[in-house]
Amino acid sequence: MPEHKVIIVGGGVIGACTALALCQRGHAVTLLDKGRFGRGASYGNAGLISPGHAPIPQPGTVTRGLKWMLDPTSPLYIAPRLSPAMLRWMIHFARACKPAAFSRNMRVIASLSQQTALAFQTIADLGIEFDLRTHGYMDVYATEAGLTHAREHAQLVKALGIHDEIIPGTEVHKREPALREGLAGAAWHHDGAFADPFRFTTGVIEYASQHHALDCRPNAPVASIETSDNNCIGVRLESGQVLTADRVVLCAGIHSDPLARTIGIRVPMQAAKGYHVHVAQSSPAMKTAAVLGETYVAVTPLGHEIRVAGTLELSGTNLNIRRKRLDMLTRGASKYIPAITQSTPVTDEWVGMRPCTADGLPVIGWSPTVKHLMIATGHAMMGFWLAPITARLVAQLMHDEQPSIDLTHLAPARF
Ligand SMILES: Cc1cc2nc3c(=O)[nH]c(=O)nc-3n(C[C@H](O)[C@H](O)[C@H](O)COP(=O)(O)OP(=O)(O)OC[C@H]3O[C@@H](n4cnc5c(N)ncnc54)[C@H](O)[C@@H]3O)c2cc1C
Repeated sequence: MPEHKVIIVGGGVIGACTALALCQRGHAVTLLDKGRFGRGASYGNAGLISPGHAPIPQPGTVTRGLKWMLDPTSPLYIAPRLSPAMLRWMIHFARACKPAAFSRNMRVIASLSQQTALAFQTIADLGIEFDLRTHGYMDVYATEAGLTHAREHAQLVKALGIHDEIIPGTEVHKREPALREGLAGAAWHHDGAFADPFRFTTGVIEYASQHHALDCRPNAPVASIETSDNNCIGVRLESGQVLTADRVVLCAGIHSDPLARTIGIRVPMQAAKGYHVHVAQSSPAMKTAAVLGETYVAVTPLGHEIRVAGTLELSGTNLNIRRKRLDMLTRGASKYIPAITQSTPVTDEWVGMRPCTADGLPVIGWSPTVKHLMIATGHAMMGFWLAPITARLVAQLMHDEQPSIDLTHLAPARF
């Protein structure tokens, strides 16, 4: 007998992993998406599995952000549109940049990081193919100042049990000959990995539907959450159809807040837009993923192509592409990879929205006001690699088990 009838709203990487974890625990799960599965932020991200990654709000971000704010070619761009919601979000964001808040948030992220690589390997061992590469990846720096920052971060995460090795520029070129010679050095993330995020998301959903009878319903946009006597009892689709369930899990990425608001719950987030382009691999082919430190651009080898991804743009919830920002990707990559120039043909262009809370931490837990509604979103730059642990925590909460980590700072009640 299934434990509960569960509806999951949103078939991105968080919904996919949650669906698998709940199916494995014997629940009867329906996965809904307004479009095709895995086509939101989870489609085109850099695919980095990066335990110990710092959240966006950190000491210095406000000063840097103010400098960059109105420059459409800076790594962080905030379009001038100060709505009250945005203003509130920015005040909370500024608070989360303070050193004490940052170190607390880093501890929370480190606790989520435990056994990340193992969690992905366990999924790969099910026979799901997503091009998982577990030999680590690196943050590469062209300048001494960048490398100094990497050293400081390596010290910080070492205290949290995460292993970053600082390597000199000569060693960087040896480990990845596709990068140019003469770089200052790199932080090699031994606990890191990378993979194809879209194949991962769709592979997990396919596996759960084949092995656990996951009920998959793409093209089923949810209009509202349904409640009765303060209990969540299901969802209403835009078609008007009501689907009932014992439990609902909201995993709709940046669209989670408007859905939660249909029953008076707030999950305040801003969309931090990012882009990717693809270029063909050339000789020597790139073997490892890298974040190109000074430009904040990530390069990930995916088959015969390299995905060049990055930029943070707070310009509302929309998928409008700013060409200048898209062009920054190849320009940024060309400073580190000789085979990429600004005239290198681009084979794919994509924009996605990272769901960002002001404190930089995800939201994982039961709704504070409506029973039987769980929220799992707000993973910002870390949704891909935090998906398996998020799913495990949701499954533990669903079974009234003590979660394996302290969820106090992730609780939806904090808003
Ligand atoms: C350029 C870029 C690079 C990134 N790089 C990395 C990285 O290297 N590593 C990493 O860990 N993270 C990275 N991220 C972040 C990562 O992509 C996100 O954190 C993650 O994909 C969020 O997953 P999600 O499932 O919450 O959201 P989504 O993938 O957006 O999924 C939400 C789903 O909900 C559905 N939905 C929305 N509204 C409704 C509705 N009303 N009814 C039904 N369904 C609905 C959507 O269609 C969508 O499929 C990056 C992001 C970007 C943009």
